[in-house]
Amino acid sequence: MTELPPLGIGTWQNTDPEACASAVATALDLGYRHVDTAEIYGNEEHVGDGLARSAVDREDVFLATKVHSDSTGLTYDDVIETARGSLDRLGVDYLDLLYVHWPTGDYAPGETLPAYDDLVDEGVTRNVGVSNFEPRQVEAAMDVLDEPLFANQVEMHPLLQQEELVAHAQEHDYYLVAYSPLARGDVFDVPEVSEVAEKHGVSEAQVSLAWLTQKDNVVAIPKATSREHIEDNWASLDLELDDEDVATIDDIEREDRHLDHDKGPWNQ
Ligand code: NAP
Repeated sequence: MTELPPLGIGTWQNTDPEACASAVATALDLGYRHVDTAEIYGNEEHVGDGLARSAVDREDVFLATKVHSDSTGLTYDDVIETARGSLDRLGVDYLDLLYVHWPTGDYAPGETLPAYDDLVDEGVTRNVGVSNFEPRQVEAAMDVLDEPLFANQVEMHPLLQQEELVAHAQEHDYYLVAYSPLARGDVFDVPEVSEVAEKHGVSEAQVSLAWLTQKDNVVAIPKATSREHIEDNWASLDLELDDEDVATIDDIEREDRHLDHDKGPWNQ
């Protein structure tokens, strides 16, 4: 299986052309090798500009995008057309990973997923992923796909620990990609996270990211726009949490979900 870099740069809501291209290029030049976007974010061109602007070669970057039922649709033809469009918008000749963005709307495993298999055969994407899937939905997708399922991208952070999905990903050996890994900024207001951060003299962001990326099969994709935030998050890879730190975070018993398809906002 291709190795997925432990930390990626998220780009949702980074729609300003210059800010988005600059964040992607800054991240790549600092060492990030995983970039996350989606057709529905409306910023694939800007992400592509950032890739082109950076000194890093395309082959050294893991580039992921997504197809959403609410934007382009998830019928067989929609997926094929959208993925080919993503190549144009990003200015690349292949994707490393193409996700089903949400299992909603016109998503139907038998109709949608064969398009993903065919896009691998065509060389449009190297891997197939899903996002916002429960374990039973992951298993249904695995039953239909010819390709191995590479990743499931879900909301995950110290306030939403996703134990069941982590165990499922480890058992079936796919990646769990943690989105909103800073709980959209809420991790800065959690006493347990601050306690561990103070002990190590680092930011709460670093603690949250290290707690995620120290788990087998889990990687994180914090969104950051400023160089300061992009650097701070990258430094989490040098932070080693000990068993006591991990237990302190594990013991937080909250289920704070920021995104819920039924409650919105969900077009992420
Ligand atoms: P997030 O990464 O948890 O939080 C982003 C927020 O934290 C931004 O306001 C950012 O500010 C700030 N931030 C970043 N690093 C920081 C630091 N070191 N110190 C202080 N503040 C910091 O939330 P997210 O954007 O929801 O999730 C990350 C990515 O996951 C998205 O961008 C997207 O790529 C993906 N995602 C996927 C789905 C899905 O359905 N598959 C849903 C949501 C998100 P600045 O931007 O000002 O730096």
